Amino acid sequence: MHFDVLIRSAQVLDGTGAPPFQADIGIRDERIVAIGELGQHTATASLDATGRYLAPGFIDVHTHDDTNVIRTPEMLPKLSQGVTTVVVGNCGISASPVSLEGKVPDPMNLLGRVEDFRYPSFAAYAAAVDAAIPSVNVAALVGHTSLRSQVMNDFARPASMAEIDAMQALLARALDEGALGLSSGLAYRNAFHAPTAEMKPLVAAVGKAGGVYTTHLRDEFAGLLDAMDEAFATARCGEVPLVISHLKCAGAGNWGNAHRALDRLDTAARHQRAHCDCYPYTAGSSTLDLGQVSDEIEITITWSEPHPDQARRPLKAIAADWGVSLLEAARRLQPAGAVYHNMSEDDMQQVLAHPLSMVGSDGLPNDPHPHPRLWGAFPRVLARYSRDLGLIPLSEAVRKMTSLSAANFGLTDRGVIREGAFADLTLFDLETLEDTADYDIPIAPAHGIELVMVNGVIGYRHGAATGERAGRMLRRSRHLTHRMEDSP
Ligand SMILES: [Zn+2]
Repeated sequence: MHFDVLIRSAQVLDGTGAPPFQADIGIRDERIVAIGELGQHTATASLDATGRYLAPGFIDVHTHDDTNVIRTPEMLPKLSQGVTTVVVGNCGISASPVSLEGKVPDPMNLLGRVEDFRYPSFAAYAAAVDAAIPSVNVAALVGHTSLRSQVMNDFARPASMAEIDAMQALLARALDEGALGLSSGLAYRNAFHAPTAEMKPLVAAVGKAGGVYTTHLRDEFAGLLDAMDEAFATARCGEVPLVISHLKCAGAGNWGNAHRALDRLDTAARHQRAHCDCYPYTAGSSTLDLGQVSDEIEITITWSEPHPDQARRPLKAIAADWGVSLLEAARRLQPAGAVYHNMSEDDMQQVLAHPLSMVGSDGLPNDPHPHPRLWGAFPRVLARYSRDLGLIPLSEAVRKMTSLSAANFGLTDRGVIREGAFADLTLFDLETLEDTADYDIPIAPAHGIELVMVNGVIGYRHGAATGERAGRMLRRSRHLTHRMEDSP
């Protein structure tokens, strides 16, 4: 057999959690066609991977890259981490189906400016992604807050029956056109007033289509467990698989509760398909939320529209300079972005290590001084938490970013190294692997990612993009089931 690319003598982590094994991998067109001892075959390009690990390309299940995959299709923050697929549209905010005039509702402003919201249908968005040919594959959720923005003028109340019907129609069409499911961001002020009764008919539409429901919970602080129960009930009612976004115990008063939250997740998962995603840091980041302003934690401002000169400074220092309270300073800074150091390391590690958690960066690509997770989340899990701290075996860490993610989001023939699967691959050197982005210098590519292939095309090699991009829109093709026992 003749291969387009032959990767020789790699330590293969196939994504399933199985221990690594040494093999050659033959690739033709966009797929893996052979695995084993392939020395007798010819190849157009052949590369020696001795001493390196070859994994399925990482799937970033929690992103806000909606408009960036079109505007900056190189997608270096993700490609340089070994990510080959991004799931966009999380936390209730998506670029489609949306058209906007005037002000962009919070936190949709994380995705871009008003002119970036120009995809009135999911089909139009998907076509724009395909036309941009990003370096990574893209799969997309529809955001509940985005749906609200299309049918409501006032977000500080529940939607009316007529508005729910209108959102349901928009959602059903998007699901028909290939959206993976629905996301919500119930903690944000523009979705907080949506009661469970508003969510249920929308989630039911997702269940009917065989999609997935992801939710940034209504409360990640003292009310975490109740918010989890609400999410389980909503998903159960719609017979839809659930992913709790960036599960965390936020706020100093809530530290030490991860085992309670994970117990709750385990219990629910006995009866319904339920998972979570997690990023390997103890700080969160989003728009500046007055409800989260507290002197118990450190808050750093990353951007501010009225006071751009205050970016990168602690809120405490700004308030002291201005001679005002933290809350008043925060009010004056808005609209703004912030990093909140609001988790405990032990809680985060428990969530990351749990078998039902996947890795998602939650990176904010439009923040001028982003949280380091944008450039570092995936290598950090492998290097710091698996190799250095031994929190999880390497094969398990890779499973959390590949096969588990593909199964939960219905991405067929991805997230696994086997004959017939798409050739989305990441080759890395575990010895030199390191996330280099930190809170001071957050825009920095990881070390040790040696090669990244997307759909059979090498997009990244020797620390730089090759200029060849082969990502595409991944439209929903599989009907997901809500019961744990019939997992794909
Ligand atoms: Zn979120």
